[in-house]
Amino acid sequence: MLSSILLLALSACAPTPVSFLCLEDDPLCSLEEALQDLPPALSVDIESVAFYQVTEKVLLEDGVEVGDDVVSVAQGRDAVLRVFLSPADTYEERDLSVRAYIYQGDALVDAVIVTQNFKKEGSFSDLDSSFNLPIRGSAIGPDLAIAVEVLEATEEADYPGIQGRNSWPEESAYSIKTTPTGPLKIVMVPIEYNADNSGRLPNTEEDEMERFRQAFYGQYPADEVQIRVVEPQGTDIGIRNGWSALLNEVTGLRDAVGAEDDEYVYGLFSPGEDPTGGTAGLCWVGYGPSDPGTKVCIGLSGSPGTAVHEVGHAHGREHSPGCGAGSPDPEYPESDGTLGSRAFDTTGNRMFEAATTYDFMSYCGPTWTGAHTWEMLVERVNSVNSIYGAYTQTDEYLTFLQDERGETTLLGQQWLSEPAGLAVRVELLDDAGQVLYQVSGRSIPMDHAQGAMVRIIEPIDDARVVDMRVVDWR
Ligand SMILES: [Zn+2]
Repeated sequence: MLSSILLLALSACAPTPVSFLCLEDDPLCSLEEALQDLPPALSVDIESVAFYQVTEKVLLEDGVEVGDDVVSVAQGRDAVLRVFLSPADTYEERDLSVRAYIYQGDALVDAVIVTQNFKKEGSFSDLDSSFNLPIRGSAIGPDLAIAVEVLEATEEADYPGIQGRNSWPEESAYSIKTTPTGPLKIVMVPIEYNADNSGRLPNTEEDEMERFRQAFYGQYPADEVQIRVVEPQGTDIGIRNGWSALLNEVTGLRDAVGAEDDEYVYGLFSPGEDPTGGTAGLCWVGYGPSDPGTKVCIGLSGSPGTAVHEVGHAHGREHSPGCGAGSPDPEYPESDGTLGSRAFDTTGNRMFEAATTYDFMSYCGPTWTGAHTWEMLVERVNSVNSIYGAYTQTDEYLTFLQDERGETTLLGQQWLSEPAGLAVRVELLDDAGQVLYQVSGRSIPMDHAQGAMVRIIEPIDDARVVDMRVVDWR
């Protein structure tokens, strides 16, 4: 009666037929396609696996597992998993599928499948030579674990060959330590530039703000980047008394623009002919996470790259060395300001090589996030959001699915901030049908079928619970 789809999927060494009850509007509906039944691919090995939010984190290299202690992983942030295959002598070129299972503890929370032609062994430097699987940030929780398998692209495929390492890890999924981060919140203050009597406003149109948002999300460890544009604020001095005068002026505006303590204020302006002295932005170096006053920067209109750099200062980052950047951070490990590790842009599906790309806190280009800066920002974004409680706390809720026949499937624990739905009383049953608990739940109906998703709102973590019965709708 019960089909525990999660456990079946977990034993992913051999492909397992899974039945999935798809509820409309449920993000897990996409799993139905990703979990299609496909035969394992023969004569091919999973050779290497690497995980990228920004900085490269190698999980498996040339068949050898790498320890999980170097690169931090930010909870809730999108990622890409690159899977490299290696063909045996008996391999014939064809399309293959690589599937990744993403777990939260023992519960499957996402699955992704990518199909493409596979011919020869790839290399880390060639983005097109790996199977690149996008992982939704919402699936990256506190108890992240990942498993990968390589399959034939179609159910009918029938190629001769030898059994290789077509699933990884061989036993349970690979656990990855994660760090809560939370949002990066920016208050964009359009500066009405009156110093030259122009009243010129910067570009804060929606498309332009989206460009800023993408630049931040691509390079910062945040589960979300929020940019809210407030009413324009006038300045009569602009940068005519120096950049610092304008920064001071904008710093005084925190209250006026209603900035919360965890929000970064960014004064955006367009100085026209006023000489900028080659400067594009200015900020405080925010030494401590709990000092709202230092969360204020200014920068030129039209330059998201400047904003990423300046707000980096507000996060306590000094300059990384290179190209004449003043007061470089002595702790930055690369003396030339390069990344220190290969990096990735999940917003644009681009990769950056360690030796030819510079940290965004340096003055050289092109830039992305250096490995050291990534780690420092993980720590800072985490601190800011834990201090101010802005990180949306989520909890585990035991979740069941019920179909129109009344058949129940245990979906497992889901991470949510607060489950919505109709209040119900529920009996939780063991495998003999005996009542173990009577608890409160929330039921979400299907829109045009008799079925429901039922979440238990009391903390229940008991492996004996395998079934449930709604006893009272209220
Ligand atoms: Zn700077």
